[in-house]
Amino acid sequence: MKAIVIGAGIGGMSTAIALEKAGFDTAVFEAVKEMKPVGAAISIWPNGVKCLNALGMKQQLQALGGNMAFMAYNDAHSGSTLTRFSLSPLVQQVGEYPYPVARAELQAMLIDTYGRSRIQFGKRVTQVEQSATGVTAWFDDGSQAEGDFLIAADGTHSVIRHYVLGENVQRRYAGYVNWNGLVTIDESIAPADQWTTFVGEGKRVSLMPVSGNRFYFFFDVPLPKGLAEDRSTLRQDLKNYFTGWADPVQRLIDSINPDTTNRVEIHDIEPFSRFVKGRVALLGDAAHSTTPDIGQGGCAAMEDAVVLAQTLASHSLGIEDGLLRYEARRVERTKDLVLKARKRCDVTHAKDAEITAAWYADLKNETGERVLAGMCDTIEGGPLG
Ligand code: FAD
Repeated sequence: MKAIVIGAGIGGMSTAIALEKAGFDTAVFEAVKEMKPVGAAISIWPNGVKCLNALGMKQQLQALGGNMAFMAYNDAHSGSTLTRFSLSPLVQQVGEYPYPVARAELQAMLIDTYGRSRIQFGKRVTQVEQSATGVTAWFDDGSQAEGDFLIAADGTHSVIRHYVLGENVQRRYAGYVNWNGLVTIDESIAPADQWTTFVGEGKRVSLMPVSGNRFYFFFDVPLPKGLAEDRSTLRQDLKNYFTGWADPVQRLIDSINPDTTNRVEIHDIEPFSRFVKGRVALLGDAAHSTTPDIGQGGCAAMEDAVVLAQTLASHSLGIEDGLLRYEARRVERTKDLVLKARKRCDVTHAKDAEITAAWYADLKNETGERVLAGMCDTIEGGPLG
């Protein structure tokens, strides 16, 4: 049985590795000639880590992950700690660590595990078709590929989604812009072993440790969609958005490199409940696009990959049946993640100012118990417990 996998992002590569481990042949086709992941880093929560462990990448992932032992929220202006707690109860409960990792390194790990030379880069799929026995994908260079089934891991702008759903879905602007990048750790900004977030005015500034003595940083600012993006004013723009914020935030803005800082307008897609049409299945952001507010989009793609390989390998009623079982196991889980992230997004970014003010007040009384319970619930809802 041969799978055509479209897209060599987190979803496509996890899928290709998972399917090969389950005994399927795979061919991976990626639109770009060279991978340049959007975004500097990503937090892989234990549900995602367990998936990568199951796919044989445990040691490599540990080497890439930062040591995130604590979590803290600080007040935007005074910089004082609103709450700070250990993440060790979470690790104890779910049985695995979270790993913030640089995206380029995660991508390289996945691609090298599969075999870089086996991926067909510069192949942008334009169309797919299927018969009772197989699928054909056409690429923009006029070539085509054939397989028994096709996994569309072609991201949030998926072209195959329309084929599966029979309609176009619109991406929904979540109302804020995110700037992210990597800087050398400076403990006058935040402790090296802590996920630190400064909150106020519906904005946030966050730092997470990744390997190599680096912080993954991000700034969120509620803004209208479509503002001009200009690297030459990026530092001054951030200075303006964060006027009056605490010294560590100012030092962080001074220390970033505007040339390597990404600017992303954050979107999601209203969850839908069809991931499969016959021998073609959507996976990762193509199937469920979420805001990054609970850091679960990439983890969900890894979960998809593990479940897909499990269902295809362990059922014998054929490919179409196996894909429908994959869909049945993933629709509700991913809908839950998208809606949880949307809710978190709205509270963090002051969609309703009163609710956000109440959250800031609650943080002063937070012992960590409620936050960690929510995170454990999300993590334990994954396919590997
Ligand atoms: P993508 O990564 O988009 O990969 C799709 C691939 O398909 C690309 O390589 C693309 O070039 C290729 N492609 C597209 N069209 C075609 C075509 N027609 N033919 C062939 N190839 C094609 N997730 C987390 O788990 N934790 C986090 O902390 C986190 N933080 C985030 C922060 C930000 C700012 C953002 C924007 C997202 C974050 N996410 C996070 C979400 C995560 O990045 C995505 O969910 C994940 O990258 C989805 O992987 P994917 O493989 O489905 O899609």
